[in-house]
Amino acid sequence: MKTKKTMGPIIILAAFLGISSLLFIFPDKTVEIFSLFFLLIISSQFLIELTITNLIALLISMVGLFGMGSTAGWGRFILISEIASIWCIIWLIYLFNDRIRYQQAVNKRELSNMDAKIEDTKKTFLSSKNKLEKTLERITQYKNLTSATKEITNVTNLQKLKTKLLTVVQQILNCTNVRFTTFLPTDDRPPDIFDAWVIRKQSPLLIQDTLKDYRFDYSAIPKTIKSVLAVPLVHNKNIIGIIRADTDKENRFSQEDIGVTSILVDVAAMTVENLRLLEKTKELSIIDGLTGTYVRKFFDERLHEEITRSSRFKTSLCLILCDVDHFKKFNDTYGHQEGDEALKTFSKVLKQICRETDIIARYGGEEFAVILPETSKDECVKIAENIRKEFYKETISGQHLTISQGVASFPADANDHNQLIRKADERLYKAKTSGRNRTIWKE
Ligand code: GH3
Ligand code: MG
Ligand code: MG
Repeated sequence: MKTKKTMGPIIILAAFLGISSLLFIFPDKTVEIFSLFFLLIISSQFLIELTITNLIALLISMVGLFGMGSTAGWGRFILISEIASIWCIIWLIYLFNDRIRYQQAVNKRELSNMDAKIEDTKKTFLSSKNKLEKTLERITQYKNLTSATKEITNVTNLQKLKTKLLTVVQQILNCTNVRFTTFLPTDDRPPDIFDAWVIRKQSPLLIQDTLKDYRFDYSAIPKTIKSVLAVPLVHNKNIIGIIRADTDKENRFSQEDIGVTSILVDVAAMTVENLRLLEKTKELSIIDGLTGTYVRKFFDERLHEEITRSSRFKTSLCLILCDVDHFKKFNDTYGHQEGDEALKTFSKVLKQICRETDIIARYGGEEFAVILPETSKDECVKIAENIRKEFYKETISGQHLTISQGVASFPADANDHNQLIRKADERLYKAKTSGRNRTIWKE
């Protein structure tokens, strides 16, 4: 292109010089020579493109030729030289301009290259920014995870654990639609299609788009569920619960979310085990191993509480102290093991006859105590007599054992729990001394 443009003025100059020489040789043929000149110029337009420089060169040449028509000899030569000099200056200016234009084109290309590079850098920066944001998100998630695990391990019962697990998983996944299905007897929600999959495969489930997931029958899935995350809670190799999150948006959960939720669920499983052990320990510390009734220490605490409640609500409370008659002799005759059987049978009778609200305790060796809250003395005596008669019906080593009982009531017989025990004990002693196999409830 550059060469083509440079050719224009050269052709015109060549034409001008050629025609000037023709004018020298044939001064009388001016008109014909001019016609030839125009013919040359017009034809040159087919070879080169029409630029401003070409036009200027053409104009100068024409002015020169017209000038030459009116001059002769050395005058004509000087004019040709002047015109040629002006033309050369213009041509140089053109070449210089052309160089500038060329440089501008180069600069433009470099600029667009730089623009492309800036665009690339921008893209790299944006992707790094996204990665950084994701990393920060993860860091926050792991920070929350630390405090969430602490919160889970600190719960004191299963119901609280369930609520806490739901809350922390909602926070960690930043998703409100989270549910926790447990397969404990208290939870009657049946497992759905996703729960069933988790139970069958014994592993976590991640669905990015229910429409494209061929593991499930799409028609059986509610239209509002697109992404699903489900993690089982395993205890003693059994799935005891499933934590599930779902949303109406695709690609909402990731493998990392599964990892984080699994950590929480594992901590929850450990907490379930701890709670179970705690429950067991508590139970062991308050329940008598042989008879399954409460121990003396627990009885003392409960009697204290029940008396406080009774005096606040102005209700009557009763206490029965029972003791197996001639138990030493029974033990000596039939053996200690049979004696144990007799104690178990007696506690069974107590549990059968007493109500849910009554507190049955093993008070001493073969001595039992029953607290009967909100019970009048008459009602209590009936119950005590029922116990005595029912126990007598039982046979241990072919024998029918009898019991003696002392009954006392609060506030009728005593002002506090110590007085109440003392009163019942006095009456039990009276029952023993007055012939055994009886219940004494008054002086
Ligand atoms: P009483 O009619 O005056 O109550 O006479 P008793 O023989 O029942 O009274 P005593 O207090 O002399 O004897 C209570 C016996 O209970 C002594 C002990 O060997 C027995 N005993 C205490 N705890 C247990 C137990 O856990 N198992 C068995 N088999 N016997 C026990
Ligand atoms: Mg006894
Ligand atoms: Mg005794």
